[in-house]
Amino acid sequence: MLYQSTRSKTEAISSAEAILRGIAPDGGLYMPCSLAECDFDWEKTLSMTTLEIAEYVLSALFTDFSKEEMQGIVERAYRGKFESDDLTPTVKVGDKYILELFRGPTSAFKDVALSVLPQLITAARKKLGKQTETVILTATSGDTGKAALEGFHDVEGTRIIVFYPEGGVSATQKAQMVTQEGNNVCVCAVRGNFDDAQTGVKNIFAAVSENDLLKGTSAELSSANSINIGRLAPQIVYYFRSYASLVENGEIKKGDKVSFVVPTGNFGDILAGYFAKLLGLPVEKLVCASNANNVLTEFLKTGHYNKKRHFYKTLSPSMDILVSSNLERLIYLASGCDEKQTAEYMAELNTNGEYTVSDEILKELQKTFLAEYCDDKQTERAIHDTYEYYNYLCDTHTAVAVDAANVLLKSGELQAPVIVLSTASPFKFSAAVSSAIGVAPKDNEFETMRTLSSTTGIEIPKGLAGLDGKKVLHKDVIDRDDMLDFVLKKIGEKNWKK
Ligand SMILES: *Cc1c(COP(=O)(O)O)cnc(C)c1O
Repeated sequence: MLYQSTRSKTEAISSAEAILRGIAPDGGLYMPCSLAECDFDWEKTLSMTTLEIAEYVLSALFTDFSKEEMQGIVERAYRGKFESDDLTPTVKVGDKYILELFRGPTSAFKDVALSVLPQLITAARKKLGKQTETVILTATSGDTGKAALEGFHDVEGTRIIVFYPEGGVSATQKAQMVTQEGNNVCVCAVRGNFDDAQTGVKNIFAAVSENDLLKGTSAELSSANSINIGRLAPQIVYYFRSYASLVENGEIKKGDKVSFVVPTGNFGDILAGYFAKLLGLPVEKLVCASNANNVLTEFLKTGHYNKKRHFYKTLSPSMDILVSSNLERLIYLASGCDEKQTAEYMAELNTNGEYTVSDEILKELQKTFLAEYCDDKQTERAIHDTYEYYNYLCDTHTAVAVDAANVLLKSGELQAPVIVLSTASPFKFSAAVSSAIGVAPKDNEFETMRTLSSTTGIEIPKGLAGLDGKKVLHKDVIDRDDMLDFVLKKIGEKNWKK
């Protein structure tokens, strides 16, 4: 399987190359040339373990890795790293199912992909005989940063720089990142919001490739954001896994259609669901659930994407995003892989801050996608009600999706069975979750965590409980215009040891 940019078809490259590059030189995102040609029989996943499904899905998409290589990659990525080797359990909560994606080392769904990506990058470097060093640049709205640091720290041949929006992440998310140990890690706050940080990173890629700024160094840039196809592919796995669990438990029969409701920011998680559907999984609807930053709701309802709107800081900060990168891949697919049209829309977004897709594209999107959003009040109510009625504690992001599911089930736009993706542990957002269930948060985040745990009887995840009292190792704060200089300076430094 070869890979091409969503914006031009002049070049087709191997999957190893696409993984190492992260983003295409023309600013586009890499896509498989033909998903339809994948050697993949979805029914086989029904009798596989999660790790076997991972190997099967990744092998189908990344064909230049041998079976043995992929087995090793998946084993090293996952074995013993999650709470169980099932990785992502599905549980029944009232009239819905909840697919728990947060049972990895950093308690957010990003772990599912970012445990694999460093292994894929290391294997790709070997395959392509790279002597250079891979420098990972990542912008984070809170969860990617820590999951990437956890995945990449002390991985040979790599260094990683994480940018997060100053004041734009929860206290726990910040503590997770700024206490990260390792000789190849760097964490830096940017004055601005997530979109500023993400645009800054994209601009660094563009500037470096245009002006050959790393000439004379042994460094090459890559990305751990979900623009990297190596980040997206591992997320396809849990859609199959969840479906298989429902069949196993007799909740549905093989072939029955299910819908997934996905708390969405950069559109990576939900797009993986679309890939699962294209690979054969019986998916009825994919629901894009947003918070007050409802740019995607408007887009999926009208075809008009407009980022020129107020940016809200919400209780679900990992979804506070107005420029949703992976949507480009969906538009590319829905346009019948029309790279010229995709490039035009993205150019319009860049210059005017908005674009409107054709009626044909909108119709194609609406065959599968529904969209709904809610504000912070509704988010809190969803946490409260889910806890009150079903004794299930969900985090603020998951609550946004629970609310969307309820609204659409009630209106009849969505029918059971519905699987809601749960993207973070409630303890990552202890303050908001506590107040939602009527327990006053303490001044200190860790106190709040402990009170939440004693009130609900749910154990604090290991990685979060151990954070209290850890030494802060990363204190840099910079302006967004200084990101490029910062990266070049850091790459020039031989030793990052703290
Ligand atoms: C990243 C994240 C999301 C959004 O996922 P996308 O793939 O960016 O759409 C939702 N919830 C949590 C907790 C996250 O960390």
